Formats: sequence, C-alpha cells, structure tokens
Amino acid sequence: MSYLVATSLEEALTYLRDSGGRARVVAGATDLYLKDLPHSLVDLSALPGASVIEEADGLITLGACLTHASAASSILILSRATALAEGCMAIGSPQIRNIATLGGNVVNAAPAADAAVALVALGASAVLVDTGGRSREEAVEDLYVIFNRSAVDSTSEILLKLTIKSCGTGEGSAFTRFAPRRALSLPLVNAAARVRIENGCFREVRLVVAPVKPAPTRLLQTEAMLEGMAPCEETWRLVERAASEEVEVRSSLLRCSARYRNHLVGVLAARVLQAASERAREEEGVDGR
Ligand SMILES: Cc1cc2nc3c(=O)[nH]c(=O)nc-3n(C[C@H](O)[C@H](O)[C@H](O)COP(=O)(O)OP(=O)(O)OC[C@H]3O[C@@H](n4cnc5c(N)ncnc54)[C@H](O)[C@@H]3O)c2cc1C
Repeated sequence: MSYLVATSLEEALTYLRDSGGRARVVAGATDLYLKDLPHSLVDLSALPGASVIEEADGLITLGACLTHASAASSILILSRATALAEGCMAIGSPQIRNIATLGGNVVNAAPAADAAVALVALGASAVLVDTGGRSREEAVEDLYVIFNRSAVDSTSEILLKLTIKSCGTGEGSAFTRFAPRRALSLPLVNAAARVRIENGCFREVRLVVAPVKPAPTRLLQTEAMLEGMAPCEETWRLVERAASEEVEVRSSLLRCSARYRNHLVGVLAARVLQAASERAREEEGVDGR
C-alpha cells in the first residue's frame, strides 16, 4: 500500500487519475475502516488552503481539511456560524476533534454527523473538483445519496472547501444533541437551526434534525409554520408538537425506541430554535446600538 502526502491539488488529482480508481483521498483518517482500505491513499491535509478559515463579502470559506477543534475555537465561526462551532465541539473526544475534518464528516455521509447537520442548517455549499478538471458547487444537503453513501466519489473527486453565508444582523444559529454520555457517544438525536428575526418575528428559518432519514433532515412544515411567528413560550410548545409529528423515526438497538426519539426530536427542535433566536436578537441589539 502507498501513501502520498499531496502538496498541490494538481499532484493529488494526477495521482488519483493515474491510479484508475485504486486510490482514494484521506484527511484525518478517523472514518477509514481496515476492511475498506484501498490500494493507495492520498492525504489532502498539506494542500495549500486545506485548513483555511476566511470571510469576504459576508461569505465564510472553510478548507475541507479544517479540523473540528480548529472550527470549534475559531472566533469567526463562533460568532458568525455558531451552530457549526457547537456541532464540531460535540464530536468524539479531543483526540478525534484534533485530527478529524469537516470534509471527512460530510463525505462519510453518516446521517447524524454532527458537523454536517450544522452545515445543512446553515445552508452551506461544497466546492468540488474531479480528476477530469471539472468543478461543481452543491448544497451540502444534496451530497447524500443513500444511508452512509455520499455523492462524492473519493477515488476521483476532491471536496476542496465549504462556504457559508455569514450570520448578520438579526440572524443566529445553534446546534444541540442528546446522547447517553457527554463524549465519545452517538447522538440519539441532534438538531441545528438558523433563523432570521425581523420586527420580532421569524423569517427564513432552517431547522434540521437527525438521524431520522439517510441525510440530515430539514423540517419543512415546521419551518413554514414558524414564518411570521414570534419567538416565545407558546411558539416553543407548538414547535415541539409540530416537529415530532413531522418525522417518522424507527426504534434502533443502537439508539433508543422510536417513541422516545420522537419525543426528543420535538424537545431538541424547540431548544435549538430558542437558542438561535436569542442569538439573533442579541445580534440585532449589538448591531443596532
Ligand atoms: C472514536 C470516534 C468517535 C467519533 N465521534 C463522532 C461524533 O461524535 N460525531 C460525528 O459526527 N462523527 C464522529 N466520528 C466520525 C469521524 O471522526 C468524523 O466523521 C470525521 O469528521 C471524519 O473526518 P476525517 O478527516 O477523519 O475523514 P477520513 O476518515 O479521512 O475520510 C472519511 C471519508 O471521506 C473521504 N474524504 C475525506 N476528506 C475528503 C475530501 N476532502 N474530499 C473527498 N473525500 C474526502 C475519505 O475518502 C473517506 O471515504 C467519530 C469517529 C471515531 C473514530
């Protein structure tokens, strides 16, 4: 088996192309299983810009090899894409967060991947390039094919970066999860939201829960219900009911009964919306002073 640490995008793509499907890219390697090891691995972590965090014209750009630890401690992400910082902070343990990456979390396509759930709520896009030199930009939510299977073929395509519209005045986001332990534990349910508050009412809500389907799942009916409503106790009660009615979950030996998970979906949906709307209001106050 060979292992190439690519120092340029061209070198990585040429190696993948010449390997004819027998090499695949790797970042932190925390999601590679011995049984699936390919003939060769192409390590992307030394590519220029692989771990970049930058903002220009209201758009945050994150290198696909950015580790969860770096994302969770970035002042820019904490203040302008808070849900992602919280999602990354919930992952695994410090050892995992220090090496595992955003790109790997998305391409691995686990339905309840914590960073990916936050990215979908934030409306993030992925920028990809393939061995034929073609590049494409896709919404992260469109990269899921079936359970644990991504639309990114890592033997011929590289996820280069993720972009997120920065949360501005009147906007806020949040992530939360419920798990049996605080570290190294699969979430029974996780949830993330991005909201805009205008004149005291919700506008443009994105509410995502997982794992209820093969991909992080937007609760479109609950989102629509919230349009024009005020963030208040009565609203949280309505959200709790609407969110748990909107999803159909299965009992899981790994997680818990369908009934309990259904209840959790409602509770976490209300909780994450409340946190996001409090941030949106703080943001309105800070910018408006
Ligand atoms: C002990 C443990 C605990 C964990 N806990 C959690 C948790 O709580 N929450 C959670 O969400 N995840 C968890 N994970 C899963 C894992 O750490 C994350 O999904 C991580 O983000 C994967 O990133 P990576 O860089 O290690 O990916 P890798 O293992 O390097 O790659 C994963 C897959 O993505 C492909 N890939 C990686 N980068 C790219 C790229 N840029 N372009 C194209 N393809 C790419 C690879 O070919 C591979 O198929 C845990 C894992 C372990 C081992």
